[in-house]
Amino acid sequence: MTTYNIWTVGCQMNKSDSERLASGLEQLGLVACSDPAEADLVVLNTCVVRQGAEDTATGLLGALKKARDARPGRKIAVMGCMVGPKTGALRRRFPQVDAWARPQQFDTILHIAGEAVGVDPDGCVRDLLPAAPHVATYVPIIHGCNKFCTFCIIPYRRGREVSRTREDVAREVRLLVDRGVREVTLLGQNVDSYGHDLEPRGDLADLLYALDEIDGLERIRFLTSHPSDMSERIIRAVAGLPKVCESVSLPFQAGDDDVLKRMRRGYTRSEYLDKIDQIRAIIPDPSIITDVIVGFSGETEAQFQRSLDMLREVRFDKVHSAAYSVREGTIASRSQPDTVPPEEKKRRLAELNALQDEIGAARNAALEGRVFEVMVEGYSRGRLHGRTRTDKLVYLDPDAGPAPSIGQFVSVRITGASPWSLQGEVLADEESKVHSA
Ligand code: SF4
Repeated sequence: MTTYNIWTVGCQMNKSDSERLASGLEQLGLVACSDPAEADLVVLNTCVVRQGAEDTATGLLGALKKARDARPGRKIAVMGCMVGPKTGALRRRFPQVDAWARPQQFDTILHIAGEAVGVDPDGCVRDLLPAAPHVATYVPIIHGCNKFCTFCIIPYRRGREVSRTREDVAREVRLLVDRGVREVTLLGQNVDSYGHDLEPRGDLADLLYALDEIDGLERIRFLTSHPSDMSERIIRAVAGLPKVCESVSLPFQAGDDDVLKRMRRGYTRSEYLDKIDQIRAIIPDPSIITDVIVGFSGETEAQFQRSLDMLREVRFDKVHSAAYSVREGTIASRSQPDTVPPEEKKRRLAELNALQDEIGAARNAALEGRVFEVMVEGYSRGRLHGRTRTDKLVYLDPDAGPAPSIGQFVSVRITGASPWSLQGEVLADEESKVHSA
């Protein structure tokens, strides 16, 4: 066995897990192979939040069975949220899979790779951090979720909340900084409840204070927050700590109290709006990003309109929207019939997205002419891009002077805007007058 391929779908947690597994496999001597049909070890890192993602993974497993039969010795592994606490049914359904690994628990995959190359992973895998991480890197700090929203399968697959210790996270961030990282995004399904399970009890704000002191680290972000757990102390840490960026990811999911209750979100519309007011009162000029579901079980047109009103009232910087789809195994799948027809969900989603496009375009257009600090992150579709502290994606004008290097902080004047991104020109030092974004 000499090569591996990891296929990843889903959230940032999965992307981070894949990076860590790749690091372990490379320490065992394997090299990445971009073509799964050619790789000796193929790993599917799966997501089950939507049925479609799970169906894609199971379809791929069928295709991989043929490739495995054609080349004995090839190994297939599945990790991520498709793998629950019990794997018996999955093993019977997919006998072609050599290893099953729950999220963050991929030792079994390292062991089948180790066996194949004749190396003991326990002896030679030092840490599971990429040798050359991206300049902006994800760091999971809490796994699992205790909330049990009725539409969500995550708590059943990822389990209850388990926080890493503050010392462990700080040690890892220092190592990443030594390897060139300048920005970390701390990850958790409900990142605001970080530390509540630790003994003695911890708090996300304490972790932010500790990480803010790490030399060489320039920016700290965290996601995703829960409106019930985002405390004033956390908000004050964002406002007061120089490295913590002024950007908050706070899903509201529905704008109507009855729908929120049926989703078991644990807050009302007015409590959510109070939280937004508190954030805007304490943090200067924050960006606020949210998630919303349309067409949840029993959602009437009037209730959907209240979600649209929420967009108009808060004027979010970015909205991640989705049409509700039933997930087998959730509370809603057992007790709340999926009453909104697919065509109606599609219409509501399109209406909501069109409204947010207008709001996002107007908010971004208001930034034209202003100057922001941008950390350059890389190229996408041939264009150099970076982000402001407020998580605005900025494409840099290729004709405005020499291209800055990845990881460099530059002052950028905004010259154009769209609902989802900005365009800008890098300023020479003497022109720079950076405002906080
Ligand atoms: Fe799922 Fe709710 Fe937990 Fe988010 S807070 S992961 S939606 S159960």
